[in-house]
Amino acid sequence: MTQDWDAGRLDSDLEGVAFDTLAVRAGQHRTPEGEHSDPLFFTSSYVFRTAADAAARFAGEVPGNVYSRYTNPTVRAFEERIAALEGAEQAVATSTGMSAILSTVMSLCSAGDHVLVSQSVFGSTISLFEKYFKRFGVEVDYVPLADVAGWDAAIKANTRLLFVETPSNPLAELVDITALAEVAHAKGAMLVVDNCFSTPALQQPLKLGADIVVHSATKFIDGQGRCMGGVVAGRSEQMKEVVGFLRTAGPSLSPFNAWIFLKGLETLNLRMRAHCANAQVLAEWLEQQDGIEKVHYAGLASHPQHELAKRQMRGFGAVVSFEVKGGKEGAWRFIDATRLISITANLGDSKTTITHPGTTSHGRLSPQEREAAGIRDSLIRVAVGLEDVADLQADLARGLAAL
Ligand SMILES: *Cc1c(COP(=O)(O)O)cnc(C)c1O
Repeated sequence: MTQDWDAGRLDSDLEGVAFDTLAVRAGQHRTPEGEHSDPLFFTSSYVFRTAADAAARFAGEVPGNVYSRYTNPTVRAFEERIAALEGAEQAVATSTGMSAILSTVMSLCSAGDHVLVSQSVFGSTISLFEKYFKRFGVEVDYVPLADVAGWDAAIKANTRLLFVETPSNPLAELVDITALAEVAHAKGAMLVVDNCFSTPALQQPLKLGADIVVHSATKFIDGQGRCMGGVVAGRSEQMKEVVGFLRTAGPSLSPFNAWIFLKGLETLNLRMRAHCANAQVLAEWLEQQDGIEKVHYAGLASHPQHELAKRQMRGFGAVVSFEVKGGKEGAWRFIDATRLISITANLGDSKTTITHPGTTSHGRLSPQEREAAGIRDSLIRVAVGLEDVADLQADLARGLAAL
């Protein structure tokens, strides 16, 4: 037998292969040039052999590309690889994580629908629901993440979507995805999970019962802080609606960014394992230190949902947050004493970052709102990268010494 890629054998041989093999090979299309890496199709439009060919492609009677806002082979390779990794029937790429969320809600909700959102989601996600979707007649309520009975009680006849991030940022709270999906489905609603903090390497929400997964590919999928992007994955029936919105409204992914993400996915599992290993060492070490009052990390036996985390995740992630002695002044002194770790609110990078949520990501909340969200003035968040863990520990020790 020959390796005949013109016949599409690259994909047809991936039945039943493992996650790491899919991460390296799923979605790859090889042109007759025989390139080994993924080809980058940097083109806005496509040419047709005849007027009749153009007409048939525009009518959707024959498959093929028309315009890169609709389809692009490099973007499609990224979408197919994400679908394979999340266990989705279909995935569709977007320009950013926020446009993944925008496209999901715009395509699946109408005026008069009700959406339930976890209280602990990304700040821009809250703004999107509060400032914009409400303006178009979508009702929005917020529910504490972990309380499945609370979600159940908050569902109304017109509830269309439940929206969560698990584990949450920065306090690493979890919700039982399977239980929440059952609650949603029993009342005719869909469960959307923002899986950006875990990636499919650590958690596959669709396999646990969720209906839709959204990602900011800007974070761990790239993994090296280079590009913005996002993706929505789920069943074809719902993805058809999301694709329709994207093609019309236009927050499509650049093929260059898709190419970067394809390269990122090839090392996703290796990187996530290394992120988790470093985070575990630092969380355990921090928990032993005098200046630290509390450490929030699902990989610690002291975490109230450690058993749930073990059940629904394959690793506990890269984000470790902790409360230091000395309130806000202590936290700022700790942060300013580090030398290696970058002071920035970003995450999902090979470089470790440190931030003070109370005055950055959660700075716009009132003191009462911060209190309710559990964001203390003494809280520091570290998004652990891929440096040598001893060097990271030494840098955090500088922070401790400054308390
Ligand atoms: C960063 C982030 C987003 C938004 O993604 P962008 O790519 O910045 O638009 C959404 N959700 C979570 C959990 C994030 O961390």
